[in-house]
Amino acid sequence: MPASLSSAYGMTLDDWIEWMAEHDQSKFRAKQVVQWLFLKRVTSFDEMTNLSQSLREELKKEFTIGLLPSVRLTGSQDTTRKFLFRLSDDRLIETVKIPANANFDGDRSGRITLCVSSQVGCAYDCKFCASGLAGFTRNLTAGEIVGQVMTAEHETGDSIRNIVFMGMGEPLANLTQLTKALTILNADWGMNLGARHMTVSTSGLAPQIEKLAKIPMQIRLAISLHGATDEVREQIMPVNKKYPIQRLFQALDVWMAHKKQMVTFEYILIEGVNDSLEQAAILAKRAKSLHAKVNLIPYNTVEGLPWKRPDIPQQDAFLKVLSKANITATIRREKGHDIDAACGQLRLQEEGDWLAVPTSPEK
Ligand code: SF4
Repeated sequence: MPASLSSAYGMTLDDWIEWMAEHDQSKFRAKQVVQWLFLKRVTSFDEMTNLSQSLREELKKEFTIGLLPSVRLTGSQDTTRKFLFRLSDDRLIETVKIPANANFDGDRSGRITLCVSSQVGCAYDCKFCASGLAGFTRNLTAGEIVGQVMTAEHETGDSIRNIVFMGMGEPLANLTQLTKALTILNADWGMNLGARHMTVSTSGLAPQIEKLAKIPMQIRLAISLHGATDEVREQIMPVNKKYPIQRLFQALDVWMAHKKQMVTFEYILIEGVNDSLEQAAILAKRAKSLHAKVNLIPYNTVEGLPWKRPDIPQQDAFLKVLSKANITATIRREKGHDIDAACGQLRLQEEGDWLAVPTSPEK
């Protein structure tokens, strides 16, 4: 699609009302457009048959529908599906569909989960992560975020009722577009997804957590903790130097004061780095202070990175420390392991020596 066209999926109903007013059209036309997009799921403006031909032509001059072309779709034995989508500027992003019986968070609800990306690349440079390897290129627009969900449904015929922002990028570094996308995904005129079925995962951007806490939507929050002390966390997550654990927990107190949802700590177990039983004991204390849940994720090897996953007895011993302290904790034996391990890998394979243009993400 030409770069100058915007995605129709990135417009809120209020945006459409404003756009229609600028084009001498009534509010009613705005409602018709969102119905065609999200309810009737048309793939072209020509199918919007209750709009005049001239209005459809006006729409075509400014917008594309917003479905994303997929470069590659890979599947694993456990029916996890990984999409590689090409954006209008030829950048690539990943989106992963996780089957209902193998869901994020051990959810056995029967809902299919989609793991979406929020940026092209990532600036946060977590040492275990493939997305950080190519650096940060740009934020996704709300249309590109919603487009991942709409396209995944369109291509698979599945109804996606759970979304996790755990793909490429730090979602809270793209707070404006993230918030807009959450609004469109949640709205009854939009995708009508329950806020409780949307989880935003962050490396711990404390001020943005506090801002997100004040948005009146009961979304869920997951923290990529990956270290129970500053000393250990700093080794693998440079963001900890800017927002050490104490500052992060201040922000989490603000979150808890505004939301009724339990926070989840994501903790990737890396051999010899953060998998000691001392770390487990401190993690248990921290989780208890917030009544947080812990997801342990044995590390998946990333080509070009030195880290390894601990053996199963060590994983189990770590879990046992948490369970003994009455923390709700699970080990997520990673799904999709046979197609790719961590976020960012598929794009790196596809692009070879593709280079990111380094710019600063929104703060
Ligand atoms: S783990 Fe998340 S925040 Fe860290 S580099 Fe990867 S995508 Fe970025």
